[in-house]
Amino acid sequence: MNDATSAVVPATMRDSMGGAFAAWTAPRGRAIPVAARAWQVCAHVANAGVIDTDEGIVLVDCGLPKDGEELLSLVRSVTSAPLHTLIYTHGHIDHAFGLGPFLAEGGRPPRIIAHRNVVERFRRYSRTAAYNAAANTRQSGGPGPGRPATWWPSRVDEFFWPDTTYEDSLTISVGGEQIILRHAMGETDDATWVWVPGRKLACVGDLWIDGFPNAGNPQKVQRYPEEWARNIRAIAAHEPHAVLAGHGMPLLGVEYIRERLTTMAAYLEYITEYTIGALNAGLDHNAIVTGFRAPSRFANLPYLRPIHDRPEFVVRNVIRRYGGWWNGRPADLLPPTTAEHARELVALAGGAGAFVVRARELAGSNLPLACQLAEWAVLGEPDSVEAHRCLIDVFTARLADETAYQARGIYRTAINASRGRLAELGAAEG
Ligand SMILES: [Zn+2]
Repeated sequence: MNDATSAVVPATMRDSMGGAFAAWTAPRGRAIPVAARAWQVCAHVANAGVIDTDEGIVLVDCGLPKDGEELLSLVRSVTSAPLHTLIYTHGHIDHAFGLGPFLAEGGRPPRIIAHRNVVERFRRYSRTAAYNAAANTRQSGGPGPGRPATWWPSRVDEFFWPDTTYEDSLTISVGGEQIILRHAMGETDDATWVWVPGRKLACVGDLWIDGFPNAGNPQKVQRYPEEWARNIRAIAAHEPHAVLAGHGMPLLGVEYIRERLTTMAAYLEYITEYTIGALNAGLDHNAIVTGFRAPSRFANLPYLRPIHDRPEFVVRNVIRRYGGWWNGRPADLLPPTTAEHARELVALAGGAGAFVVRARELAGSNLPLACQLAEWAVLGEPDSVEAHRCLIDVFTARLADETAYQARGIYRTAINASRGRLAELGAAEG
């Protein structure tokens, strides 16, 4: 942590199911000065960059739809200059959808600049809106009382489309300030990092999120850890004095920044080399993933904590990229239905009860195996009260040890689904 972060570190928090998890050191509601006439403004989830010039503001990202009001008031707490240009670091929902309140101020609409793949992303978002809504609902723990399904844009007028796009790099001048945009594959294929040489300032979006990089998300499209490592090293080579983060605190100080960026790059390179080496050694997907061990020189660093994604998911992502989707088990190439498979296994064991007993035995020593058995029990006997109770218990135990938002959401969704099924069956949770 740098000095700027120490006052706002929330450390470990507890969620509604009692599990401990590490949270982003998100300094919500603050405008943090990072250079002359430049700030990182921090909304509920994501940050935005404010670069004030003699011609108006260059804004880097604009948050979630619900972040717009908060971002605008933070911007207005530091400058009254008109919004001149908006740059998207990428087209994710938490970075490119909060422009509405800025437009409502009136005046000339800003120019919107992005990498050309942002346009392709928006088209994809529209095409797969229902899937993305479902995936993001799962990621946040699933729908339930007081938890509506996640909104996802689908109509053309729900996007703030860029009016200027570029391929590799683009240099603009606003109020005499030179601003350089560079394409940087990494978390996404549409990412831009923004370099302001006159202020030694880099706005990198989600290329830096003050946690383990989001390079493996189990429900999302391909990520690019190798390119990410190269690009983050290129940013470090510019020797920025300040790096504005997509999430969490800004990084301040040349040496501090260099150490963090190059260490993160080294971790991504390590994971990629491990996975390609394991593919070349002929290991199957399960052996590659379960055989991965995070080296302590990376895993113990506070700025590489797996609070959103996990290294094992990046391993999966690299396997998908280079090794296809087949997991190495011939029976899984053209498999039976899951329901058929589960019913047969449970029947062979004499009923779901046998799975439940063994899952509970294993819960203290091997939670991954206990969760597998509880899941087969539920799939094999979907009306078994004891199977649902067992699933809730073992996944709740798993949740207590899990820090990554993406994994926690999927576990919570499973727990909520079993709770819902118990309610339908008229049974208490037990
Ligand atoms: Zn983000």
